[in-house]
Amino acid sequence: MVVAVRKPAPYLVSRLTAVRAAMQQRHLDGLLLSHPPDIAYLTDFTGDDSIALVTPRDLWLITDFRYKEQAQVEAGWLRLVVRTGQMDRALARTIARAAVRRLGFDAQHTTVADLQSLKKALRLQKQSVKAVPLDAMVANLRKVKDQHEVGIIRDAVEAAQEAFLAVRGRIRPGMTENHLAGLLTLEMRARGASGSSFPVIVAAGPSSSLPHYRSGEAPVRVNQPLLIDWGALLGGYCSDLTRTLFVGRVSRRMQDIYKVVLEAQMAAIAAIGPRLTTHQADKVARDIIRKAGYGKYFGHGLGHGIGREIHELPALRKTGADEPLRPGMVVTVEPGIYLPGEGGVRIEDDVLITPSGCEVLSSLDKSLAGCRID
Ligand code: ZN
Ligand code: ZN
Repeated sequence: MVVAVRKPAPYLVSRLTAVRAAMQQRHLDGLLLSHPPDIAYLTDFTGDDSIALVTPRDLWLITDFRYKEQAQVEAGWLRLVVRTGQMDRALARTIARAAVRRLGFDAQHTTVADLQSLKKALRLQKQSVKAVPLDAMVANLRKVKDQHEVGIIRDAVEAAQEAFLAVRGRIRPGMTENHLAGLLTLEMRARGASGSSFPVIVAAGPSSSLPHYRSGEAPVRVNQPLLIDWGALLGGYCSDLTRTLFVGRVSRRMQDIYKVVLEAQMAAIAAIGPRLTTHQADKVARDIIRKAGYGKYFGHGLGHGIGREIHELPALRKTGADEPLRPGMVVTVEPGIYLPGEGGVRIEDDVLITPSGCEVLSSLDKSLAGCRID
């Protein structure tokens, strides 16, 4: 028997209090949310094709028959509107019922067409509403994880690590990238994950120099790097890890870049904490790589937030918003050096910012000796 959730969990009450405070600051009496991770963050409802309307007193969910039962089970306390006609009509009626005058909407997840059809539907309702575009309001709240979220992320890291250890011992020359990627996904799901947090990257040999490589039919070769970037999606949250393995001998050049990447990653982890900004964190690792002569081969940012999505705020990189790290943020630390045509090394761990620094949530061996397979 399924038991419907009749009132929001305490962690949801806190998040709703925070989102309503942010609404009040902007003088909004309504907030529209259409991005599923934002809706799940505030309601625990995990369906798609639905829109939430937050008002100072209520939380409405406009969905259709496919998600009716799921919404009742996951979040029976929501004011549920099961639409039969078009979304914009149902939405406009709900906005009128809730007597919203100033309505915030997420500019990043609302198309011009969405907005126009909503405005048209509102005119039909004779409801005069001021639509206020917002820049990532809920995404900004989601940056700092609460204890409930950190607990789930720890489990997502654990599932990914255990899966890696289960697969590591089975790696043999001749196995394909696709085969290894499939094994990792299988082992994560066997440990409670609902899937990979993104398609597993297994890059054999020279392909390891492509940071966003798509795994294919290339075989694992001896005396070459084998870069594996993977993560578990568990309980709605992502983990994200990378290890670079070597089957057989490690060339001098690869030993050299491995040492530099590891030094850069450990220095960044040692420095990361609430005293540092996102730009400064990136710089710690980048300076080490640059001084070793590989600056131009580290072409991406140091890391990114993880949570319900694999890439969340904050972005740890040298461009864009420079913001202080805050306790509760969970970010990846993943410097890399990529030598075109030769191969690359990346080492990625997930860390939780704490009041005094950071706690590394992942614990897989990253010493060069520990990453060799004979
Ligand atoms: Zn990754
Ligand atoms: Zn990452």
